[in-house]
Amino acid sequence: MGDGCSLNSNNNGSDNDNINKSCSINAIGGSMTKKKTKKKKSGGKRKKMTVEQILAARYVNEWVFLDSNSASTASSVDDFGVQSHTKFSDKVVFELHSHSICSDGFLSPSVLVERAHRNGVKVLALTDHDTMSGIPEALEAAHKFGIRIIPGVEISTIFSPRGESESEEPVHILAYYSSCGPTKLEELENCLANIRDGRYIRAKNIVSKLNNLKMPLKWEHVARIAGNGVAPGRLHVARAMVEAGHVENLKQAFNRYLYDGGPAYSTGNELLAEEAVELICRTGGVAALAHPWALKNPVAVIRRLKDAGLHGIEVYRSDGKLAMTWQTPMNF
Ligand SMILES: [Zn+2]
Repeated sequence: MGDGCSLNSNNNGSDNDNINKSCSINAIGGSMTKKKTKKKKSGGKRKKMTVEQILAARYVNEWVFLDSNSASTASSVDDFGVQSHTKFSDKVVFELHSHSICSDGFLSPSVLVERAHRNGVKVLALTDHDTMSGIPEALEAAHKFGIRIIPGVEISTIFSPRGESESEEPVHILAYYSSCGPTKLEELENCLANIRDGRYIRAKNIVSKLNNLKMPLKWEHVARIAGNGVAPGRLHVARAMVEAGHVENLKQAFNRYLYDGGPAYSTGNELLAEEAVELICRTGGVAALAHPWALKNPVAVIRRLKDAGLHGIEVYRSDGKLAMTWQTPMNF
């Protein structure tokens, strides 16, 4: 993204964004500017790090291994500029997009942390949809397993068109905070609470649309799957549809009924995408665009959000493959 805040995730969980992802993100502190540098020849020398990258890598390394005695023994640097410990021998693995049962994941925050730890993750961002309620439990578990938590949240927003070349679509913005959390917690929490209220309205609308489509799905069933106090999402509706035998699997539920703009699709109280980016910046967070490969019009969205203060974009999809590469250089 031009200014050294790229987000390089490598989620190899499910192919659905909403399902827990429990794998690795291999980098932090890299920069899209590296694309402007000369292409590496095959078998050629490793690209030299800039002074800023070395400094950033050192800070990250020291932070990740603060509790160990070997913070100064780092000896090698990976492609993304993150130093590896001789003692640990692995890369510093980041997972920057994960969901727990506090939104539509399948694991409790503590079990998610344990799973991440087992998979070699050293830094985990918990980014539940529109809530940070799982963060305290994740922090406690992370302490036990000696890994770092980045307090995060994935905010539901709508991109509103300005010109004819743009179209309305849902956009998810990831927010990352320091270990101190948001600087204006009340303001952030009020916005998130409003969006969560909208998720109930939205899920009820989806159920009634399905009922109108002659699918006798019950709201209570969706609410039961979401769990007590958890704002429902499309994945909860899809799971209820599968359980009730109306569709064969989650993919079918989304492909036939729940996809963006689909016959049972509905919106709630989402923020405008730019408002969410500004909110994240105002509350001391780092804003990153989630799964841009799912967007109808990613260029327009990224341009507009970059102007609003967006720091980075997610670049790997759930199967671990790079999802989006720019064919031409973009001028943000
Ligand atoms: Zn998402």
